[in-house]
Amino acid sequence: MFLQNPSKLVKRLIYSARDDVLSREKLISKNCKLVGNLLVKNNKNISESVIPLCHLKNFGERMSESWPPKEISLDAGKRVLFLTKDLELIKRQLYDGLNLKMNDISPEDLLDDINTDAMTPAWVCFDHKPSEIAKNAYAGIMHDGMRVFSEKALINGNFEVIVSGQRKGTGSSRETAAQCERWAGIRIVIASSFAPIHERNNINLGQLMGDYDMLSRLQNGESIPLEEFTSRYDPVTKLIIENGGLFPFAEKLSNDEISLPPLDTPSGPMTMAEKIIARNLVGHVEGQCVKPHDPVIAQVQGGYSHEFTTAQVHTFLSEEYGEGYQLPNPNKFAVFEDHLLYAAHNPKFVPHMDKVQTLRDLQVEFQKHTGVRDYSAVDGVSPGICHQVAREEFIEIGDFIQATDSHTCMGGASNALTYGVGATEYASLVYSGFTFVKVPESIRFELIGKLSDGCTAKDVILYILSDHAREELTLNRSMEFGGPGLSSLSIDERATLCNMATECSGRTGICEADESLYDWMENAQNLDRKRMQSLSVAPDEEAVYDGGIHTIDLSQIVPMVAHPGNPDKGIPSDPTNGANISDIGDVSIDIAYGGSCTAGKEDDMAYYAEVCQAASDAGLKVKEGVEFFIQFGSKQVKDLAIKKGWHELFESVGVKLIDPGCGACIGAGPGVSIQQAQVTVSAINRNFQGRSGPGKLYLASPLTVAASAFTGKITAWEDGCLES
Ligand code: SF4
Repeated sequence: MFLQNPSKLVKRLIYSARDDVLSREKLISKNCKLVGNLLVKNNKNISESVIPLCHLKNFGERMSESWPPKEISLDAGKRVLFLTKDLELIKRQLYDGLNLKMNDISPEDLLDDINTDAMTPAWVCFDHKPSEIAKNAYAGIMHDGMRVFSEKALINGNFEVIVSGQRKGTGSSRETAAQCERWAGIRIVIASSFAPIHERNNINLGQLMGDYDMLSRLQNGESIPLEEFTSRYDPVTKLIIENGGLFPFAEKLSNDEISLPPLDTPSGPMTMAEKIIARNLVGHVEGQCVKPHDPVIAQVQGGYSHEFTTAQVHTFLSEEYGEGYQLPNPNKFAVFEDHLLYAAHNPKFVPHMDKVQTLRDLQVEFQKHTGVRDYSAVDGVSPGICHQVAREEFIEIGDFIQATDSHTCMGGASNALTYGVGATEYASLVYSGFTFVKVPESIRFELIGKLSDGCTAKDVILYILSDHAREELTLNRSMEFGGPGLSSLSIDERATLCNMATECSGRTGICEADESLYDWMENAQNLDRKRMQSLSVAPDEEAVYDGGIHTIDLSQIVPMVAHPGNPDKGIPSDPTNGANISDIGDVSIDIAYGGSCTAGKEDDMAYYAEVCQAASDAGLKVKEGVEFFIQFGSKQVKDLAIKKGWHELFESVGVKLIDPGCGACIGAGPGVSIQQAQVTVSAINRNFQGRSGPGKLYLASPLTVAASAFTGKITAWEDGCLES
């Protein structure tokens, strides 16, 4: 969306366009012509380079106000809210006027891993206006089954600072989490660390982020130079924060009030993520290299949104560019109706179904208005989960893809750079075709050996979560998977690894390309093999991995779960709570769920089928008292299951089958718990408290989920384990 070192010509056009005096004569004199709102030069559409920069006025005015000042101090009339593990202490601050100081609190007392779902649960996101969303800020933090934050509690508390522990904003990429604080009056967010997408969303909204020491000083009456809040960021991010957020920054850039720093990274070895960013640089000569933290503008090859997020994108674009806005390359983008089809199954969501319908309607309006690819449900059945269909149908090897959902990184299995962004960022890039990128650091996982029977890629990523991610080695990094062991994993299994880079709080996951990938892509998209080979990326031998190179011997992986912790004792339910199944004792279950973007793929179905066949051979049905749901990731997956006879097999042993789409992961469909006492073993990606109902949720592999459904307790799959 922003130009790096725009040429004089483009600058001149920006001025002209900004002033709405983009005359035909001027354009023709520069070999340009205007086709609709597209600028064409030498038969090439250059409008992306020009038009986005000239229409940012309204949004800029909405977001910038006079924030931030050069010196930051606390407003005497405002308050600071500490999100403590002791939930009673939060209530006393919210409702009894208790004011705490940083000096009264130890960082260990603060809540860690506050996930975006706790900040804005799914039902809160059924509102698409940020001011409405703010009324239900933190509605997901529960105590004894009750909301800690009642409606408008954050707004009414008159807070300007909010404080928490490590990894603030983990989980879903939903920008609503950052919006709920911003529109409730919070302007300074203090935490020990932030999940990358959430941090970026805060930056885009103009929020300041600081540490405990800074808060102590502020509370002691000091004023702190803005520079201290921005010093850890790259020059472009600094500019975005100093100017009050993404849109005010863009407006000033277009007005030539600020300019971007030059990129002077010399030639050198690069990782896979770096190579894809480098090849997409805007405003640089071919061959320009990048290194971690370089702030650049890069072209994206495509993206998508779903009915949970599209309404905000459409609203922002209409407000920003006017009702008649157009997208230059709609065929590269898509909308999916996949997340809320089963929302009414959750009694909690029933009162909000009118809002869900508004979201659907606005997505249809957006699709018709823009002409983006349409993956709407037909007769109430979705074509599939966006991440799954995107890799089946349009993510190509070497692509740079952005979408409004945190598990966008699943596309990394196709040797592509893919990750989730918030609605503000997506609105910008879908309009322009470009986006701002801070080149991520990388961490490499060198896979060797082969998985033992009964183990899957899910066990590998649960191991990485409990080991590397827990220590924050993966934080905000591109997780690169390669080595000889990778070739033993199917492409669907690689997608599981990349998918859960999100739970590792990584920026993304990306796998090396090999012959298996070319075969898979040929089969899925009928692509030319030579072209795929030429577009594929491999890391250079001397590439630098700030997160290190970690060898994982697949043969040493054992079946694992991520356990639900004990949230009431301050141990949150978290995907990093890894445990070997052999160590957890007898855990009885009520629900087994196999599905979601992580585990609704063809190879996951093969795993479920392997266990179901064994159960059928042993004369078993799903254990009495247990419900076993399998949800197909896409129509293609369902068709395969029918063709292979798995569909029939599943039904014959008592599995409840659900049409393609997503549900349990956001509490919007069959498979979620209804009562606190229920225990679920699930092949989905996250077990954050309350996300899939009030019960306890163990994450596990498709094999474990299926085996457990027949034994009634969490069971690692091995041949013969269902025979009496
Ligand atoms: S599990 Fe479902 S809700 Fe979660 S990211 Fe995947 S598709 Fe979206």
